[in-house]
Amino acid sequence: SLDCYGLETERSLNYMNEAKKHLPGGVAANIKHFEPYPIVMKEGRGAWLKDVDNHWYVDYLMGYGALALGHAHPKIRHAVADQIFCDGTCLFGTPHQLEVEFAKAIKKHYPSIQKLRYTNSGTEATQLAIRLAQVFTGKNKVAKCEGHYHGGYKEMLYSINPSLDEAGEIDLPLPVPESADVKVDGNEPYILPFNHIEGIEHLIMTHHSDLAAVIIEPIQAGYIMADQTYIDRLRQLTLTYGIVLIFDEVKTGFRSALGGAQEKYEIEPDLTTLGKVIGGGFPIGLVGGKKDILDVSSPSRGADVFEAGEKGQGSAKDILFHSGTYNGHPTILAAGLATINEMEQAYAKVLDITTSLREGIETLAKNIGLPVTTYGAGSIFNVIWKKDCKLKHYRDLQKTNTKMRKELDFALLQAGVYTKPLNRYSLSAAHGKEEVDFTLQAYEKAFHQLKGG
Ligand code: PMP
Repeated sequence: SLDCYGLETERSLNYMNEAKKHLPGGVAANIKHFEPYPIVMKEGRGAWLKDVDNHWYVDYLMGYGALALGHAHPKIRHAVADQIFCDGTCLFGTPHQLEVEFAKAIKKHYPSIQKLRYTNSGTEATQLAIRLAQVFTGKNKVAKCEGHYHGGYKEMLYSINPSLDEAGEIDLPLPVPESADVKVDGNEPYILPFNHIEGIEHLIMTHHSDLAAVIIEPIQAGYIMADQTYIDRLRQLTLTYGIVLIFDEVKTGFRSALGGAQEKYEIEPDLTTLGKVIGGGFPIGLVGGKKDILDVSSPSRGADVFEAGEKGQGSAKDILFHSGTYNGHPTILAAGLATINEMEQAYAKVLDITTSLREGIETLAKNIGLPVTTYGAGSIFNVIWKKDCKLKHYRDLQKTNTKMRKELDFALLQAGVYTKPLNRYSLSAAHGKEEVDFTLQAYEKAFHQLKGG
């Protein structure tokens, strides 16, 4: 019997009912939830995912963009197996050689990175970047852009997806809490308007004396580009006023270009955060950038900075404390290194495949007469239900037809294409012509269905 998805997803439904007894909302992360119930997956191969009711789907979620090579890539499986069987499972608890080999692979593609620190997630990376900026500048406040996501912690859970009636003027957005534990009490970040030059000039010039850092997704959610003039002006202003510019490239790293958005814009931020792709599907994050900034966390800083004999090692209050049992985990660095090496060969092909899929979707929409277009950069794009729209920032996105987009997502699911509702598409080296043809057939069917309905 077919259910609300037009498929048999009874085992997903049963699993979710059971899961709700054990996990809040039945999920391990809020983002995994959607109505009426999430489809539960059990296997991934290349570009394909199989659910617990044994349907296969072409996967465009790709672990929220983390899987640049697709599911179960042989090079990653071998790298992980070699690490585990030959050198040891994980924790030497000491420095080890992959930490530097990996750092060199990152620095090759990110010339703005002189030194780096590993973390266990993108969230931890942006958190550390902000702390580094605060210690380095001796200032305390942070500014972030409306609509931008930097991880799930209190300082950053503002104005990610606010309703427009709460969000204030376009050039002077108000901080809007995104979580029950977050308040507007004076400790919140300043909220910058994305792609609005006068707005950032005003906010930065007004607040520069207590502003330690500006953190930004240079390409919002991986698919809404900053204007070159905006990003250039932001770089100028932050340099002028001694504010640390942090590019959060957790999403865009090795996707917008191998060298991330900063390669596309030819801009050197002071700090960069990376995550997702660089872990090959395993949890990782890192902060890299100017060595003077990274070195505020150096435990040998005392010896570097102070005259020997005069002050000796720096005391705890001089050094930024950063630690973590799993930082620089060897198995994960092995998986990440295999991914980076493979992407150097595969990236051009991923771009070609992404372009052919985007063009295919746009051509179908045009021929069938639906107001659908795609927005994106590199191997990420999103499908927008609105004709001739110029997506410049979060507020434009609010004016698109998300109801129809969701119906499209469900119609595609029924035809064997998986995206989480409203989520953007991330491609991988495992997506090829077969997957694109399959997806476009699903689109043709879905578009006709929605046009008629
Ligand atoms: N920054 C950006 C731009 C992200 O897209 C994400 C994750 N979606 C994060 C930070 C947080 O990374 P993680 O989920 O690994 O903590």
